[in-house]
Amino acid sequence: MKQALTQNEDVEQKVAKAADDLKLVNIKLNNEIAERIDIESELANTKTDLAEARDDLSKAQVKTEEAQQSALQDPLTGLPNRLSFEQGLNQGLIQAKRHGWGLAVLFIDIDKFKSINDSYGHDIGDQVLLMVANRLKSFVRDEDMVSRWGGDEFVCLLFGVKQESDGTYIAEKMISLISECSEFNGHVISIMASIGIAIYPADGDTSDILFKNADTAMYKAKGTEKRVVLFRELGERRTG
Ligand code: GH3
Ligand code: MG
Repeated sequence: MKQALTQNEDVEQKVAKAADDLKLVNIKLNNEIAERIDIESELANTKTDLAEARDDLSKAQVKTEEAQQSALQDPLTGLPNRLSFEQGLNQGLIQAKRHGWGLAVLFIDIDKFKSINDSYGHDIGDQVLLMVANRLKSFVRDEDMVSRWGGDEFVCLLFGVKQESDGTYIAEKMISLISECSEFNGHVISIMASIGIAIYPADGDTSDILFKNADTAMYKAKGTEKRVVLFRELGERRTG
């Protein structure tokens, strides 16, 4: 009997110990579950932070690309601007020298453009500039370049020009295209332009000299009936 009682006490102690152990296991398990919930929420936060950081990065990239683009583009016409033209001319000269190609710089200025602004207003003046830009752009080949230098001045780069007459021919075609009548807010307007041409290598072998010589030729072209002048025709000594 005493033995049976002792055995019973043993069993009760073991059951109590097992219950205690179970309690401890449960506490540990609950702690682990809580820890896991913490880790999961931390992970979710990190994922959100990462997604936001990616979003910010791509927005910053878009802004950088837009800034780079607008630094090279004329806002009114969407044409490459002066800086972009200078880069294009420098690159073009490197290629022309390497391959032995000719390269023509055409300096285009609209005649009496101030009178368009004065007669019809600045907004119509802007529309006329946009029309000139679109006509020039649609006329040249993809590999050539038309840019807005500023005001009513445009500059065109023609690659692979074989002879002077190619440049003159293209300039004359440009003038007849630019001078076609168009209607702007009910006003039929016709404009004229003058073009000066400098050709690499005959008229200069640096971008500055070619540009300056094309500009000089353009001023000579102003007021002449032909409206297109090659720098070479001026008989001036090539500088540079
Ligand atoms: P010329 O025959 O000698 O070239 O005479 P012009 O009247 O065309 O004179 P010039 O080329 O010197 O003047 C260009 C004018 O273009 C001066 C300025 O008022 C105007 N202009 C410059 N930028 C803009 C622009 O973005 N929009 C408009 N509407 N006018 C402009
Ligand atoms: Mg002008």
